[in-house]
Amino acid sequence: MASIFTQIINGEIPCYKIAEDDNFIAFLDINPNAKGHTLCVPKEEIDKIFDMGEHLYLQLMQFSRKVARALEKTVPCKRVGMAAVGLEVPHVHVHLIPLNSMADMDFSKKVEMTKDEFEALAQKVSEAINA
Ligand code: 5GP
Repeated sequence: MASIFTQIINGEIPCYKIAEDDNFIAFLDINPNAKGHTLCVPKEEIDKIFDMGEHLYLQLMQFSRKVARALEKTVPCKRVGMAAVGLEVPHVHVHLIPLNSMADMDFSKKVEMTKDEFEALAQKVSEAINA
């Protein structure tokens, strides 16, 4: 069965999209550690990040960097942290998390956001990428 992220990529499940190109998509994490928590995902469904081919892996880093720089301009934070976990969803994704404290890297700590907040934030970050 297709992963939940493949279903998002195929438009079968909605997301708060930030960016997309031929190979990657970025959208807001639905259960964020901090406001602006974003996932950068390759469209090819590969389970583990370090099993990716070197070229696609480097392209994912390039794509994630672009999104991280837009997040840093848009979301009040000290810096943007990055993590690769994959324990919940076995489809490669890079977590980008706007950090104000080390606690923001704690995946058991979550913040509540309304649909309107998600929509407004996704639009703002998306505009910062294209600016
Ligand atoms: P991991 O696999 O790295 O342990 O965590 C998967 C991440 O994906 C979690 O932070 C979780 O909140 C997020 N996630 C799981 N399902 C969905 C979904 O349907 N939509 C979005 N936007 N995020 C999801």
